[in-house]
Amino acid sequence: MGDQMRQRWCRMGFVSLLVLMIFGGATGTGANDGLLSSGESGIAFEARLTQYGPAEFLLILRDISDIQRQARALEQARAEAEAAARAKSLFLANMSHEIRTPLNAVIGMTTLLLDTPMSEDQRDFTQTIRNSGESLLEIINDILDYSKADVGRLEIEQHGFDLRRCVEEALDLVTPQAQAKQLNLAYLIEDGTPEALVGDATRVRQILANLLSNAVKFTHQGEVLVTVDADPVGEGRVCVQLAVKDSGIGIAAEHLPRLFQSFSQVDASTTRKFGGTGLGLSICKRLVEAMGGTIGVDSVAGQGSTFWFELPVPQPDQGRLAPPLAT
Ligand code: ADP
Repeated sequence: MGDQMRQRWCRMGFVSLLVLMIFGGATGTGANDGLLSSGESGIAFEARLTQYGPAEFLLILRDISDIQRQARALEQARAEAEAAARAKSLFLANMSHEIRTPLNAVIGMTTLLLDTPMSEDQRDFTQTIRNSGESLLEIINDILDYSKADVGRLEIEQHGFDLRRCVEEALDLVTPQAQAKQLNLAYLIEDGTPEALVGDATRVRQILANLLSNAVKFTHQGEVLVTVDADPVGEGRVCVQLAVKDSGIGIAAEHLPRLFQSFSQVDASTTRKFGGTGLGLSICKRLVEAMGGTIGVDSVAGQGSTFWFELPVPQPDQGRLAPPLAT
């Protein structure tokens, strides 16, 4: 007997059994739904028995074996696709980590080379190597963070740190670019903000540096201001709010919803004009969320943007009070 024939016989036997079972057990009026399956043959039926009167029944049987097979195949395909995506992210994380080591050596050695006597041309070439190495390192660091976040390996540390120092260090990183564009760079820590916090200073600085570097990049005149505030949120925690406000080109309302997605730039000409990968904000979002916080933006095209993030942190025992303004 062929396979198809055997399956047909099996189905018929199964249907007869089902009819007997349902009729045998039916009492009263109403509808009964049931699902029967035969494990060995892989055949499944859906049965609906409706009783209209003492001796009137309507039995609808539906062979749902194919539907169930398709659902199983779909589930398996989804699991395989997820495993493949995870493997790729893991590969990317490992590769970018491996590339960083020799790249750091290239940057370190060119820095040492710049301290040795050389002609003006040689100095110029060496400086170009170092600048390019540093740009490459930034991209690799972004890819590393991005792929680490994908496989759930973003490490968030918890240690005591000084919030003011963290803000100042982030500002130091963009000071040369801001000066070159003659932008005012300032920060304001509101009164009552605790400065001795417990959290991940490196990650907070990284997020701030990213937002600041965008603010400087997309502002052609005026200022970039960092503000820091904090509110108690109960249960021994405070919510620290950090914002980077610029007087730059701003972002049109229709672009705002996609801004924190990966590889998202407001328009294609951005890459041409300003460079960048469109990864910075999506990494910031992942980092903020990994720390239990939220990130957002308020912006008006042509008038500037305010990128902000909030982090819940344990209430420090003694918060130092901040002086009102520092630049
Ligand atoms: P990129 O590496 O391209 O800067 P980001 O994720 O950091 O990637 O930013 C995504 C896009 O958001 C930018 O390309 C730019 O179009 C827009 N953007 C980010 N910050 C600002 C800002 N302060 N002012 C105006 N546009 C901004």
